[in-house]
Amino acid sequence: MKYSIALLCSVILTNAIAQAPTGYWQQRVEYQIDIRLDDQAQAIQGREKLKYYNHSPDTLRRVFFHLYWNAFQPSSSYARWAKARKDPFTNERLFDLKQEEQGRQDIFSVLQNGSAVSYRVNETIMEVELSRPLLPGDYDVFDIAWQGQVPVTIKRGGRDNSAGVAYSFTQWYPKICAYDRDGWHADPYIGREFYGEFGSFKVDITLPKKYVVAATGVLQNGNTIGYGYEKEGVKPPPNYGFVNVWKFSAENVHDFAWAADPEFTHEKKELREGLTLHFFYQPGPETTPFFQALQQRCAEILPYMEARFGKHLYPQFSFVQGGESAMEYPMLTLIEQTTLAANAMPTAIHEWMHNWYYGMIGNDENEEAWLDEGFASYATADVDLHAGDDGKNIRSGLASIASRQWKEPLGTPANAYSDSYDYYDVVYGKGAAFLWQIRYIVGEEPFQRGMLRYYDSWHFKHPRGGDFLRCMERSADMELDWFYDLWVKTTKTVDYGIEQVAADGASATNITLKNFGEVPMPAEVLVQFRDGSSERHYVPLDLQYGAKQFAAETPAISHDPWSFSVQTYVLHLNRAMSDIKSVEIDPGGWTADKDRKNNRKDF
Ligand SMILES: [Zn+2]
Repeated sequence: MKYSIALLCSVILTNAIAQAPTGYWQQRVEYQIDIRLDDQAQAIQGREKLKYYNHSPDTLRRVFFHLYWNAFQPSSSYARWAKARKDPFTNERLFDLKQEEQGRQDIFSVLQNGSAVSYRVNETIMEVELSRPLLPGDYDVFDIAWQGQVPVTIKRGGRDNSAGVAYSFTQWYPKICAYDRDGWHADPYIGREFYGEFGSFKVDITLPKKYVVAATGVLQNGNTIGYGYEKEGVKPPPNYGFVNVWKFSAENVHDFAWAADPEFTHEKKELREGLTLHFFYQPGPETTPFFQALQQRCAEILPYMEARFGKHLYPQFSFVQGGESAMEYPMLTLIEQTTLAANAMPTAIHEWMHNWYYGMIGNDENEEAWLDEGFASYATADVDLHAGDDGKNIRSGLASIASRQWKEPLGTPANAYSDSYDYYDVVYGKGAAFLWQIRYIVGEEPFQRGMLRYYDSWHFKHPRGGDFLRCMERSADMELDWFYDLWVKTTKTVDYGIEQVAADGASATNITLKNFGEVPMPAEVLVQFRDGSSERHYVPLDLQYGAKQFAAETPAISHDPWSFSVQTYVLHLNRAMSDIKSVEIDPGGWTADKDRKNNRKDF
């Protein structure tokens, strides 16, 4: 079922009053970074000035920074963790990196408001003792000087990736750890997820002039640099020096990534006023057609994405060949291999969707990885569904999710999953299934309103899963915590079926529905009659304290609620059993039902 843009726009207006809960606060950062790359020594020199605003009600006596590159050493905690688990998603090269291939971030000095302070580095986390406590409502200026070695590409970034892209600078600067209602998130890096404070980044990148640079942020000196960044008709002046200084600026982002390669071609496509996409890749028989097709695809789907998930608030987004696997950053994604293989396009769109779920709506990816991975996966599939996909893959995905024996609940923090296969399958698969289930429970219209309400309330903020749930509950006027608790916090599964269909006299029939599983759900039952007609019946769950809104094209006959505490429910039909051709529970196949064989009976 599709919704008109006009309808969704009116929904956006209604939801404009939506906001984060009273008392919500978050820190703010203003980074000014100056980085120089020596591409012979693979060394960087960096200087970072960070204005850090303490909007919390707490007095801070120390602050923490991430130094991610220190993970790329054979004796790091990451390496030992991955080795002990034989982690299939860690590049084994990590275990015997030579000295010159390792990553390093060595701190020279840390100043707090101009005075040196003491700090302690424990691999990927630096702890800074403040010489003056940072009071609520106040700010500090930190000045950090460091030097680093660019690692070979191990996880997400580094030099010389598999496609030959020279540099992928991800998690490359001392990044202050997030401090929120749960305190500090000084999570050591083991190759998994990220979290950061919103604010502004002004980044000056100095490197030999042969490189074309793609970055989070908008280039401020495009008319001088050129390489496709110059305004139409502008001829950049000749550069007689050895280097270029690229000046980027980004607002309302919580991280900054960049990539550089001498072979990059740079293409632009304006999708609408105020939004231009940039594409950077090494031209070739596979990359060129892929990026051309991607430009077309982005233009086609943006209106639907914005109508369903909210406006793309950044003025620019870049698709960049580089990095390892495919990874999301604010205003930019790095994609390692770009081919016309079947999953390349959905992967690129998935990474773009992350600029909603992760970029603008900045959840803690370690604490609740499903809140962006599951949502980005859901949104990518929903975009395809809108574009005419028959939804078979989504439904078979739900069936597969339902039938798996998960070792750990969806709500497990990313770093705490012991099995990487489980981690990825649960976070992406079961995370996306969460939204398909909510959509099934509340109905299309309230669901779409809830998604926009979540966006309106939480963009440029740090929501939790529970905050999303409140948006959806308010939008649907329904209680949903019963589902959330079981789906997110346990490994329990859904399994509904039809136990029995029996005549009740000559002109009525009793259909006995059964909950064979552990997660109670509302039930939708389609009864098809021999005369070709059919009826849709709806049995809400008592815990919902509300009812699904059905679309006008698919009306349903509502019944008394089914109690969560009993396994069976008798649906009484005023029709002779001999009239009935078939009875099916969840005929659309949109629940993650563990065993669909017991869902239907034919007569
Ligand atoms: Zn993702």
